[in-house]
Amino acid sequence: MILFLDFDGVLHGLGQQVFEHLPRFEAILREFPHIEVVISSSWREKFSLEEMREFFSEDVQPRLVGTTPVITAKWPPYPRHVRHQEIQEFIVSRGFETRPWLALDDDMTLFPADCPSLILCEPVTGFDDEMADVLRARLNDSMGLDRRVMAYQVAGEVSVLLHTGEMLIDSDPEALAAMLFERGFRSCDVHNGQERNRAQGAGLIVSLKRTLRQLAEVSE
Ligand SMILES: [Mg+2]
Repeated sequence: MILFLDFDGVLHGLGQQVFEHLPRFEAILREFPHIEVVISSSWREKFSLEEMREFFSEDVQPRLVGTTPVITAKWPPYPRHVRHQEIQEFIVSRGFETRPWLALDDDMTLFPADCPSLILCEPVTGFDDEMADVLRARLNDSMGLDRRVMAYQVAGEVSVLLHTGEMLIDSDPEALAAMLFERGFRSCDVHNGQERNRAQGAGLIVSLKRTLRQLAEVSE
């Protein structure tokens, strides 16, 4: 999970002490150790990533993994939702297209109206207790996305890579499906890791997913 973070109107409300809400935000990061933070705030135009890390507690500093690029269009067409576009450019440049992401911001005009990843703070109050609850709920929901299982078929065997980094390999897709099912995974969690190279047969992955669907039906 990547969290794109704005500062003004988020880590402090309008007229509040700078970084007043930072301890509350850091507490959430400690609750969810799989989140990586990318800074999308305009502060990135004045400070380097290294300098901005210094604003955060020492244990949280390594969680700040980058800043979004700054788009400065000198002539039309100007991007309509600049921050959203900067986020998209960051995602593509890092090859993070399959990773779920959220953006914490107080300016809805920087994002498309229907952007499901935007968590919108009130500019005056910023990341208060209520917003912390909203973010916490969204992160709990998103755990489902992080249960992604990547399946690969190589030389008559199918191997699956779990979100924990653990790898399971078997030549029998049905046995592998049973193992995954036992751990609570379902067919929708399994993604074909060879989708970019369809020339390679993926028959075992198809069987794996079919067996997982059947196991779920039987257990209902
Ligand atoms: Mg802001």
